[in-house]
Amino acid sequence: ASSFSNLPDAPVDEIFALNHAYVADTDARKVNLGIGVYRTEEDQPWPLSSVRLVEEEMYRQDDPARHEYLAIEGDLTFLDLARDLMFGFSSASSDSENKSKQRIASVQTVSGTGANHVGAAFLAQHFKPKHVWVSTPSWANHQTIWDLQGIERKSYPYFDASTCSFDFNGAITTLESEAAEGDVVLLHACAHNPTGVDPTKEQWKKIAEICQRKRLFPFFDSAYQGFASGSADEDAWAVRYFFNLTSPPMEMCVAQSFSKNFGLYGQRAGAFHLVTNGANPSEAPLVRKNLCHIIRGEYSMGPRYGSSIVKRILGDSALRAQWQDDLTIMSSRIKRMRQALYDELVRLKTPGSWEHVINQIGMFSYTGLTVKQVLELKSEFHIYLLKSGRASISGLTEKNVAYVAQAIDTVVR
Ligand code: PMP
Repeated sequence: ASSFSNLPDAPVDEIFALNHAYVADTDARKVNLGIGVYRTEEDQPWPLSSVRLVEEEMYRQDDPARHEYLAIEGDLTFLDLARDLMFGFSSASSDSENKSKQRIASVQTVSGTGANHVGAAFLAQHFKPKHVWVSTPSWANHQTIWDLQGIERKSYPYFDASTCSFDFNGAITTLESEAAEGDVVLLHACAHNPTGVDPTKEQWKKIAEICQRKRLFPFFDSAYQGFASGSADEDAWAVRYFFNLTSPPMEMCVAQSFSKNFGLYGQRAGAFHLVTNGANPSEAPLVRKNLCHIIRGEYSMGPRYGSSIVKRILGDSALRAQWQDDLTIMSSRIKRMRQALYDELVRLKTPGSWEHVINQIGMFSYTGLTVKQVLELKSEFHIYLLKSGRASISGLTEKNVAYVAQAIDTVVR
C-alpha cells in the first residue's frame, strides 16, 4: 500500500472545470457565461489601454531591476496607492488623514484570493474567531479558504429568490440574533458574487450598526472596485462608511483584488489591509510584522509584474484618467449587455420576470434558472453557466445575445 491509498477525493472547482469544458467544445455557437473575466464585444480578452501604455513604457525602459525581489510586505509605494484607492485618501493628506492611515496595516498579496487567505490565516491565529459568517450564497472559495483555517462557518441569508433581490431582513435578523461578539462577518464590498445584488446605503448603515454594537469583525472582500459601477469611489462606499465610523472606530479588514478592475487576472496583484481601532499607534506596525511572518513562510512576497503596473497607473494622473476611461468602457459594456438580454427576453415574452437582470450589478447575474435548465443550456445550446444559475454577463455580445435569449426562452417554457 502506498502512503496515500486512503486519500479522500477533493472537490473539483466548478468554475474552472466548466471553463475547461467550454474550451474543449467545438460547436461554433458556444457561449461562455461561466468564468468571471471581462470579454470585449468580439469575445476576446482585453488588456486595458492604460495597462498597455505602462507595459510599452516598461519594455522601453528595460530596467535591469525589474525582476528583483520585492520586500516581504510587497512594494511599499504600490501598497500606499492601493490603500488610498480603497479608503479614499488623497495624495496630499491632511493631519487627520495621516492619522487615519496609521490605523491600517497593509501587505501585498497573491491577488484577492491571497488577500482573503492571508487575512483568514492572520485572524485564525491572532484573533481566534469562533465563527465566520458567510452569505448564502457566496463566492465558493470563501468556504474553502475559511475551512482550511479550521474556523467554523455559519451562514446568513442573502438572496430572496422570490424577488431576486437582497434579503435584508433575513440577513440582519440572523446576524442580530445569532452572531456573537468576536465573530467574523464576511461582506462583499460591492457587486456581490454570485448574485449581483448589493445592500443599499441605508441597509449598509444598519449592517454597520449591528457589527459595531455587537462587536462583530467585518471582513470586506473587494474584488470589483470601479469595475461594477464604473466609479472606484462609489464601489468603495461601504468600506469607507465602516472605516469612518467613530465612537468607537471599528476594527475591520479588506481583501483587495486588482484582477477585474485592471484586467490583470493571471498576474495576481492584490493587497490585504487590516484596520486597527487606532487606540494604540504601535498596533498597526506590529500587525504588519505578523502578516509578514505568515507571508514569508508561505510565499515570501507577492509577485512584482502586476503590482508594478497598478502602481504606475495609480501614481500618475494621466494614466489614472486613462484607467478611468477603461473602467467606463468595461462597466458600460456590461450594463449594455444586461439591457440587451433583458430586451430580448421581453420581446420573446419569455415566461417569468427578468427585471433583476438589469437591476443587478457587476460581472454576474443570478438568473433564477434552475439546475435542469442550466444543464439543458449546456447540452442543447452549448451555453455555459454555473449550476446556481449565475451567468457572467461579460460573455454576452451583440452577436450572441439573441441566441442566448432564445435558448433561455426555450428551456424555461
Ligand atoms: N472575491 C470574490 C468575491 C471574487 O469574485 C473574486 C474573483 N472571482 C476574488 C475574490 C478573487 O479573485 P482574484 O484572486 O483573481 O483576485
